[in-house]
Amino acid sequence: MGKHQAKLLAQERILILIRSAFQEIGNDYKLANDQAQLAKKIAKRLRLKLPYDIRQLYCKKCKLFICPGFNCRVRIGRSKIKALRITCLSCNNVYRKLI
Ligand SMILES: [Zn+2]
Repeated sequence: MGKHQAKLLAQERILILIRSAFQEIGNDYKLANDQAQLAKKIAKRLRLKLPYDIRQLYCKKCKLFICPGFNCRVRIGRSKIKALRITCLSCNNVYRKLI
């Protein structure tokens, strides 16, 4: 199998894992987090850069899989720059996401 093909397969696998993590998060957070962490591991192993939207699903500090309404809080910032303030409810780290 060529390198390019391996990367395409990995990308597909990552998307499946993330989708599944979202489905599981309400039932079994540990399983959801495991799947999300595995997705990240696959990306790292193949040196794939995760898409921006997927990278936002991990807390910058504790690296856990975070999902709005479940284990992170999202607020719209009050400054002039349009940004969301995301608070991870596991480690209380706050970071901004530009919108
Ligand atoms: Zn955190």
